[in-house]
Amino acid sequence: MSPRYPFGFLDEYAKKEVRRSILKAVAIPGYQVPYSSREMPMGRGFGTGGLQLTLSLLGRGETLKVIDQGSDDSVNAVNLRSFIEMTCEGIDTTTRTDEADVIQSRHRIPEKPLREDQLIVLQVPYPDPLVVVEPSEDKRKILHGEGDYSRLLVKLYEDVVKFDEITISHRYPTRINGHYVIDSSPIPRWDVPKLNQSRALILFGAGREKKIYAVPPYTSAEPLAFEDVPFRVEDFTDEYGRRRACRRCGCTASFLDEFIDSNTGEKVYQCSDADWCNEYRAGRVEQLEEAEQGEPLPRMPGVTDEQGRSSVTGGTMPGVTNG
Ligand SMILES: [Zn+2]
Repeated sequence: MSPRYPFGFLDEYAKKEVRRSILKAVAIPGYQVPYSSREMPMGRGFGTGGLQLTLSLLGRGETLKVIDQGSDDSVNAVNLRSFIEMTCEGIDTTTRTDEADVIQSRHRIPEKPLREDQLIVLQVPYPDPLVVVEPSEDKRKILHGEGDYSRLLVKLYEDVVKFDEITISHRYPTRINGHYVIDSSPIPRWDVPKLNQSRALILFGAGREKKIYAVPPYTSAEPLAFEDVPFRVEDFTDEYGRRRACRRCGCTASFLDEFIDSNTGEKVYQCSDADWCNEYRAGRVEQLEEAEQGEPLPRMPGVTDEQGRSSVTGGTMPGVTNG
């Protein structure tokens, strides 16, 4: 006999506290709200932050989608989904983006533009973009309060001096509503423009670091950059200047993962967002309009590391896990 859990696993007091922290995060866009992250029956680093948000927000009759790197079938997504199904009686789950009320995600925002009645919860390993330039949390809080991101900008400038461009491939620092700069979580650059003026509420949960922050709907989100070195998303053009297409659905407007075909040894490309790939293949969605993506952005060339894995594929950094 399976043990009985209260709806949403967490007790009502814990869920209420998470919801209050979410309200505060929505009221102060981009501000990292501390909360008392609970122990979950899984290791910190496997999405416990996102999970606590989802469990606190889901209600009976609602539909949930869980993705990991765009896929509904990866181990992390499957385990989180089955845990939520087990502890939230009466909810539905789906793999279709448009059917979901709540989407919990690691490393991607779906290609299909989200709606006002949807919300997305992102799993975050490191909530504070200033941690790379200031080890003391007290001092970081002062810098955030004063909106002083000069040291972060110096860090980006050093990149430009060394590599002629800003080399951050994910966790791109992004200024929300003209003040707080957030760590946008390990989404690729491709997804950063989706934070800007999003129709859906975007929530970030860092379980190990005990922080919740939010990008409310219709709020500005500007990736940090310089006037002469603008922000760029990943470039998927080939050596002949043509946009690469997904080998499965043929879409030429989605974020692509790069694989090595084990038979031919050649590099092949496929949509990272599994639902988008299925929908496009079935002819249910049109090619993404530039207008849907917001302002067209300049693209950055794909960078290949020593293992031959392209950094544009949003690969996980070694040792980086999700809170
Ligand atoms: Zn595809």
